[in-house]
Amino acid sequence: MAGIAGSTPSQIPKSADAAVRPNQPLHLVVTLAVDGIAPSVYRFHELMKSIVDVPPARPFHSPECMPLDLPLRCRCGRMRGVASNVSPSSGFRFVCYCKDCQAFARFLDRADVLDLAGGTDIFHMPPGRVKFTAGTDAMRCLRISNQVLRWYTECCRTPIANTPAGPDFPVVGMVHSFMEHEADGRSRDEVLGPPFCRIFERSAVGPLPPNAPGPPSVGLFAHRASKMLGWWVRGLSRPTPFFDDRTKAPRAVPRVLTQSARAALS
Ligand SMILES: [Zn+2]
Ligand SMILES: [Zn+2]
Repeated sequence: MAGIAGSTPSQIPKSADAAVRPNQPLHLVVTLAVDGIAPSVYRFHELMKSIVDVPPARPFHSPECMPLDLPLRCRCGRMRGVASNVSPSSGFRFVCYCKDCQAFARFLDRADVLDLAGGTDIFHMPPGRVKFTAGTDAMRCLRISNQVLRWYTECCRTPIANTPAGPDFPVVGMVHSFMEHEADGRSRDEVLGPPFCRIFERSAVGPLPPNAPGPPSVGLFAHRASKMLGWWVRGLSRPTPFFDDRTKAPRAVPRVLTQSARAALS
């Protein structure tokens, strides 16, 4: 995905409409919470008007390719891991244009993880298929909103993933920046499939890329919900590398930004 290489946080374009919040109409019945993970129901009738009959960006069941173990790696290589059994049908890829994802990139001084309209490429998959193998002492956590923890590395400030605030919800949103696609020569589209949809496009900071996926449809929500239910039934929410097995506490103490620090990232 195209980036804004070389930009500093202050140079990252900001939304033209600062009043638009992610939870306003047009956006989602079930916020694809964790961008979006926690289900939150709101403005159902407006949502239905806006998304019903919108065809999915691609069929729910795209031609399958062999699942693989995808290497995970921060930019400098100190923190590593593996996402197992990855294929287009083993997760749910989408692009999120919400303000919090953009604020996260600004906080990390990593404009390059966003596309030209401020979108973040995220792959939802079950936590039980993510393992870290090195450098976990560099893992840090940021809390921008109450529902979502945002994980990154301290060494090179690479976004790792977004998770719910606790370990029981069976999904983790892996950010593309922590995936190493060069290792086996296959592109991200080949390994994960193209994104199913985009969300929170009202917070985009520029024209969407010509190849941007379409908005979500009701059918797509149902598809995603059934996928997550399947992960939960199969016990794939555990083990999770982000939370302590016994205490269920995050493995890094979440840093909470002050109001002024958060405002500075908007
Ligand atoms: Zn690093
Ligand atoms: Zn987001």
